[in-house]
Amino acid sequence: MSDGYIHRTQDTFKKLLPDTSGNEVNGLGVEERGTPQPFFWHPPDRHAFGDLQQAVIAHQHQSPDIAAIYSRDADRGPRPLEKAEMPDRRAPEDWAGEIKAFARSNEADLVGITPTLGEYVYEGYELPLPNLIIVGVAMDHTELSNVPSSIDDMRGAVEVGLKYNQAARAARKLSNRILAAGYDAKAFPGPHATALNMIPAAIAAGFGELGKHGSMINSAYGSSFRLSAVATDMPLVYDEARAFGADEFCMNCQVCSNACPPDAIFPEKQTVRGRKKWYVDFDKCIPYFGETFGCAICIAVCPWSRPGVAPNLIAKLARRRERLEAQGDA
Ligand code: SF4
Ligand code: SF4
Repeated sequence: MSDGYIHRTQDTFKKLLPDTSGNEVNGLGVEERGTPQPFFWHPPDRHAFGDLQQAVIAHQHQSPDIAAIYSRDADRGPRPLEKAEMPDRRAPEDWAGEIKAFARSNEADLVGITPTLGEYVYEGYELPLPNLIIVGVAMDHTELSNVPSSIDDMRGAVEVGLKYNQAARAARKLSNRILAAGYDAKAFPGPHATALNMIPAAIAAGFGELGKHGSMINSAYGSSFRLSAVATDMPLVYDEARAFGADEFCMNCQVCSNACPPDAIFPEKQTVRGRKKWYVDFDKCIPYFGETFGCAICIAVCPWSRPGVAPNLIAKLARRRERLEAQGDA
């Protein structure tokens, strides 16, 4: 255990919850479409949960490993280059292929492209660049499976932090590649939130489907990956959202909801800012998340996250669909 470590329990974090519910801020039960509100991981003075957020971060930083991962000295990628004066003009298809190959050879495991929509931009921010390149970095599932973390075993939390840094480097290198080609580019590295609400943009860019645990499920890595993004005016062709049966699978699976200690995962889809979607009760999740240095149990236990399982599940779901269709035709 680290010298001087002070263990903070869920109850400590519960006491810091403000009067406003996080679910209200997230738009739970709101029928109208609307822009997302700045919330956790935004600058603490921009939302009602600032004190709680700072306490969660301070608790995490008692671990020297975590403090090092998120320190200014950590390698989170290069500084932005000056944009080249003349844009290198190529067809959008050519640029999309080039950019994806560049990202994959610079620490990204997943890359997809989608237009910037207003619904991806948090209220009070502006994002004038028309295209988004979403980057994903796979986590080592064996390391991730050591969650929930404690000060005596930080392997899971360290894996999350290391992969956030890798995703940050991938985005910053990609952004510099685009600036060197004479186009505007801005990197959005996690985990701190900025203008961009990354999950809906990543789903639109073909990364996967939203799972019952409120995280994405990808057809190769399940929920065992981290995101970053680059916004740009480089001409690019877009990817399409890709459904492969994860949403359907979640209807009959309860692995994450049974494993969640504070019972924060809703069993049914909820209406959130005008959309029916899977949703996690923020007010129940965050105190446990705080105590356990980022929890992550739900993404670690999700069957899709286990290496090698996703292709089998996809094939099984496809066979089931075919069987049901054949029965319907009979
Ligand atoms: S992060 Fe932990 S507490 Fe939050 S929903 Fe997932 S399992 Fe539950
Ligand atoms: S554990 Fe099951 S219900 Fe939860 S997200 Fe994964 S597949 Fe869906």
